[in-house]
Amino acid sequence: MATRKIVKIGDETLRKVCRKQEKFDLRLAILLKDMAETMYKAEGVGLAAPQVGILRRIAVVDVTADHTGLREMVNPEIIESSGSQTGREGCLSVPGRQGVVTRPNHVRVKFQDRHGKPVELEAEGFEARAICHELDHLDGKLYVDMMDRELTEEEIEGHIPEDDQT
Ligand code: ZN
Repeated sequence: MATRKIVKIGDETLRKVCRKQEKFDLRLAILLKDMAETMYKAEGVGLAAPQVGILRRIAVVDVTADHTGLREMVNPEIIESSGSQTGREGCLSVPGRQGVVTRPNHVRVKFQDRHGKPVELEAEGFEARAICHELDHLDGKLYVDMMDRELTEEEIEGHIPEDDQT
């Protein structure tokens, strides 16, 4: 396994709309593995292919503390969303910053696995937030574009009023 370099905000790669992944080959399997490894090493809960410089519709998400909940999503699409949640969000491509973002509380997402097999998944709460965040990356969108407000350095370390709502 290998980790890849994470592209940071300011790089145009993060602003591009990614293309569909058509080939389900060894190259894809290696990319998915590297993306998971890169995400875990950086202590993130999600990573999208453009964040490692690949403009394809591919993302990984794992919101579990023990790394047992890995979702590998190829060509993901949100097909249903409901409810709302307001809370803090950060991004491995936007180091040292956090903001308050409102997202759906529940999503149904369809995607393909590493073999091209169609999968449907329902997620809620923090996992729904992570999925929405990663899928935005595939369309060149960052959370900083849609945040309600940016947190101060003190707030990043401590409590924010928005935490009480979730
Ligand atoms: Zn991100």
